[in-house]
Amino acid sequence: MAYRHQLKVHNNLGKRLEPFVPIDPQRVRMYVCGMTVYDYCHIGHARVLVVFDVIQRYLRRIYGSPAVTYIRNITDIDDKIIQRANDNGEDFNDLTARFIAAMHEDAAQLGVEPPDEEPRATLHMAEILAMIERLIANGYAYAASNGDVYYDVSRFEGYGKLSGKNPDDLRAGERVAVDEAKDDPLDFVLWKAVKPGEPCWASPWGNGRPGWHIECSAMSTNALGNHFDIHGGGLDLQFPHHENEIAQSEGACGCQFVNYWLHNGFVRVDNEKMSKSLGNFFTIREVLKRYDPEVIRYFILSSHYRSPLNYSDQHLDSARAALTTLYTALRDVEPGAAGEGEQSERFFRAMDDDFNTAEALAVLFELARELNRLKAAGGDTAAVAAELRALAGMLGLLQREPEAFLKGTVAGSEGPDDAAIDAMVAARVVAKQEKSWAEADRIRDALKALGVALEDGAGGTRWRRE
Ligand SMILES: [Zn+2]
Repeated sequence: MAYRHQLKVHNNLGKRLEPFVPIDPQRVRMYVCGMTVYDYCHIGHARVLVVFDVIQRYLRRIYGSPAVTYIRNITDIDDKIIQRANDNGEDFNDLTARFIAAMHEDAAQLGVEPPDEEPRATLHMAEILAMIERLIANGYAYAASNGDVYYDVSRFEGYGKLSGKNPDDLRAGERVAVDEAKDDPLDFVLWKAVKPGEPCWASPWGNGRPGWHIECSAMSTNALGNHFDIHGGGLDLQFPHHENEIAQSEGACGCQFVNYWLHNGFVRVDNEKMSKSLGNFFTIREVLKRYDPEVIRYFILSSHYRSPLNYSDQHLDSARAALTTLYTALRDVEPGAAGEGEQSERFFRAMDDDFNTAEALAVLFELARELNRLKAAGGDTAAVAAELRALAGMLGLLQREPEAFLKGTVAGSEGPDDAAIDAMVAARVVAKQEKSWAEADRIRDALKALGVALEDGAGGTRWRRE
């Protein structure tokens, strides 16, 4: 199949669907705002990780893997980190090291491929300081009397072009805190003068530490150049974080910063905003105690990345049922050489349409149905199975042995292990051979109570966890 990709993406800079045209097709460059590492990642972080993992996988499919550079930063110094380290009575570096390791574990569990680079603010102070100096030299920033350095928003004409917010409206709203050191309440901090007991770095304006926004401008430019293709992150970062990044980078470099801005939607829990105060706040680790990581990944991809995603047990149960259907279709099938037929074309059309994973998943179900038809008819299943696996692989799904998923125990869950279930199933086979029907039924019911379903077939009895 000679399918020609025509990728379109919803660009939040301009708020419209646009053909994706890389600046250099030999080097597609994407930067995504990563985690602030002072606690475990929650289900909202899981969405950012998985969504941009699928986007980078798909870009590599189109442009070839070496042509794509994917950078996801780590914010390893900020107010919350300092506060938490102080509360714990530990060095902030120990705190961040622990939660960076935890984040990497969570990402790996969810099948998220590591980005090409993971720059950290504390390891890029030189680039951060250089950019602040350039902003001062270009007239976009000023050192205040208290040792802070601020960005002068009134100097940047394009302020608001991403979020659609107008600086005059923002000032009129006066939701911005008035600070005597600032010339204008909209000005934001580039460098914070040190306070007692805080970690700090030397700078031309005295000891201090960078503001959050400047690290992403400095580290993305350092890794990808002054002008690159895609900048991503959660929708909550669009304003002010990404608006400020544009002001900084364009003010410092004098050229367009990013061509395409992609934001994933919010995660809600049972249709409410997720928040610690509502007590509906789930870490990835908590959810992984109850659900297979692939189920979480499937659940995240079952909605379009820009839509709100509603977390609920029902939705995760549906995701598990969907994966059970797909893996059941692949069971007992030897995949052959992967062909790309009509369904592949449908899959690519869906993904080319602003990464429509929900539609792409529907194509996987078409293939599973075809596979089941062929199995029932005794037809050749190898090519369809291979196509199903290959397409699902682009989403990071269906790459395990079907039995491993279908029998899969959820880490940390209670219940019998595989060997115990195998023994009960074997006992039931013996009971049936001895025509002890009541005993066979008793064992079936006992297994059912344990959440194990049996399937009697020509090849014997098989089981899976419900
Ligand atoms: Zn950022």
